[in-house]
Amino acid sequence: MILGVAIDAPLRRLFDYRTPEGAPPIQVGERVWAPFGHRRVVGVVLEQRDYSDAPVAKLRSILSGVDGAPTFDPALLQLLVWAAEYYRHPVGEVIATALPAPLRAGAPLVQAQIRWRLTPTGRNNALAQLPKRAARLRGVVEFLLQRIDAAADEIGAGGGAAALGALRTLETRGLVERFVAAPVQAACAPVRILEGPGLNTQQQTAVERIDATLGSFAAHLLYGVTGSGKTEVYLNAIASTLARGEQALVMAPEIALTPQLITRFKDRFEAPIAVMHSGLTDLERLSAWRAARDGSARIVIGTRSAVFTPLAKPGLIIVDEEHDPSFKQQEGFRYSARDLAIVRAQRLAIPVVLGSATPSLETLARAQRTPELLSRLPERAGDARPPRLSLVDLRTNAQAHGVATPALLAIRRHLDAGGQVMLFLNRRGYAPVLFCPACGWAARCARCDAHLTLHDRARRLLCHHCGAEPSAIERCPDCLEAVKPVGQGTERIEEALRERFPDAPLARIDRDSVRRKGELESVLERVRRNEVRLLVGTQMLTKGHDFPNLTLVVVLNADQGLFSTDFRASERLAQTIVQVSGRAGRAGRPGEVLIQTESPDHPLLRLLLSGGYDAFAAGALKERQETGWPPFARLALLRAEAAVPAAPMHFLRAARSAAPDQSMREVSLLGPAPAPMERRAGRHRAQLLVHAPSHSSLQRFLKTWLAEVEALPAGKRVRWSIDVDPSELF
Ligand code: ADP
Ligand code: ZN
Ligand code: ZN
Repeated sequence: MILGVAIDAPLRRLFDYRTPEGAPPIQVGERVWAPFGHRRVVGVVLEQRDYSDAPVAKLRSILSGVDGAPTFDPALLQLLVWAAEYYRHPVGEVIATALPAPLRAGAPLVQAQIRWRLTPTGRNNALAQLPKRAARLRGVVEFLLQRIDAAADEIGAGGGAAALGALRTLETRGLVERFVAAPVQAACAPVRILEGPGLNTQQQTAVERIDATLGSFAAHLLYGVTGSGKTEVYLNAIASTLARGEQALVMAPEIALTPQLITRFKDRFEAPIAVMHSGLTDLERLSAWRAARDGSARIVIGTRSAVFTPLAKPGLIIVDEEHDPSFKQQEGFRYSARDLAIVRAQRLAIPVVLGSATPSLETLARAQRTPELLSRLPERAGDARPPRLSLVDLRTNAQAHGVATPALLAIRRHLDAGGQVMLFLNRRGYAPVLFCPACGWAARCARCDAHLTLHDRARRLLCHHCGAEPSAIERCPDCLEAVKPVGQGTERIEEALRERFPDAPLARIDRDSVRRKGELESVLERVRRNEVRLLVGTQMLTKGHDFPNLTLVVVLNADQGLFSTDFRASERLAQTIVQVSGRAGRAGRPGEVLIQTESPDHPLLRLLLSGGYDAFAAGALKERQETGWPPFARLALLRAEAAVPAAPMHFLRAARSAAPDQSMREVSLLGPAPAPMERRAGRHRAQLLVHAPSHSSLQRFLKTWLAEVEALPAGKRVRWSIDVDPSELF
């Protein structure tokens, strides 16, 4: 018997092994120990065959199975194989993505359990031997007399730690002994679902629609602004799922997966919930993974990689903030967790719910094809008026440190009226450029085609692209004149506002100001208690936070998104504007949103202002259709980088030549061209774009073409990667 084994290595193939003579049979989906070069590695069996393309006599044998049982059920294994094919990524690395680190290193699939029982002496004599005042020891013995055997944490009210001490004492006296129990399939824990608020009509309809599709595939879109009650809909649909004895998987962006959100789930369901995010230790992640797999966790909440969590009885998948870019993994195995959630739901024949206030254009286009699966929630409950949006023309208004006069006046007005004000700028640091007014010199990163950003009130220089921190500069290296910061980052806005509004307590929220876990929470708590009146921040402010007193939002620079080379930039901009606007004027206070721009006549910006995200999306989708961009076409991006300047372009030209003639293929190739930022971290970068009319034509082309590309000698001199459905074109 030959085993085709997936091994965590950057090769797009399986490795064939023989099974050792007389060893127990190994099943597909099982982890095995295999010799690999001079190492011993953990692989996963994907195929069992009676042939190999390699000479069978030369094949090595696997050393042993790891567990004697499959790690992945067939459905999940097939999803992983499908994802590897679709994203054209080595399947061994794809499978490694789906495994917690200890399992990649060979840890057992199920935790063996240590249990305790009385020795014969203990059974007959313990109570007679132990003094009356040794109440705790006697309690443990009485428990074991009744229960025969138990794990430490099943004993007594004090939990595992207290019982463990007593057990060890009894063990030294020869009264109890420990033994390793075969792991039992966790019993389905009882679930209690607590009452939530009564749903409004639209919520009711949305829940009924989802409920009606439980047990079959459907991709629902729940489209409603922040605070319109989407989470309530999720909670109710999950309740129906749990009532069927099934599990629910909830995916959220890292930044939105806050303790408040988890508390909300725990308050509603008295049921085991497994949470998976990047802050977990390896062991915590493993235990959440095991609980999801054996079915003891009824709800699994996690970020991007949670889409691969094994589920004993999957019933429903929810993707909250489905438009969020963090669902796309941007390096290594480049997958879209949102898209894979849909594929997984389809293969499992269960519903998936995508929720957003600003759905991606892909999702909106899909919803237009299945209007019966689109549920809209009305504007925020109890507050009929959406915030008023208006533009501030940066060309005609005076500004102080990036804040134009009309915005400064509005800030004063809202502060005086007792409101809170938020300023949004997607640029951290003090200033994006350090410039010499005398000769035009500007501080650039030595390793990137980029300016260095000033930080810490202009005392520190930092490259946002490679992390380089060259020493600070006070005089121009060319002409020795004093240099000055140009442009604004959040730090500089903070400084300007503190000067201008000394009476208003201010907080800044960005990756520099809140580094440690918990810091963001404590700032947000101060904001909620109204101890902060002015709030300056980046993207971090746009996600799932509730600011009941916020009445004014100023978007300091909308132009970053309007004139990017990336076709998705305007979509991101509109989403950001709507998401930050969604923070203003909740709890009955009317909100106002000011958007500063140098291009107030931009058609998409106009649409957004006049008709909201709907109008914007309709306009943007029409534009995508006319120009033939996704979702009306499919893309893949072949990227290459190398320390040698010419190598990436050389490789990509060879890759282009390796493709069949234009007349023989359905796709077009655009490029190669140097990347928008040609040099980054000392490496030169270039890219070649594949543009296809459909998903199937793209897949057909990539399959044959990449086999050729892999064989190119020029590929040895670069690092290259393929990005299917890229979310960014650089
Ligand atoms: P979203 O997920 O769309 O941001 P939420 O579900 O968090 O919205 O709802 C916003 C607030 O309104 C929450 O405090 C929630 O408890 C409350 N809420 C939602 N639906 C209802 C309802 N039908 N009746 C009363 N309160 C509701
Ligand atoms: Zn100079
Ligand atoms: Zn750099």
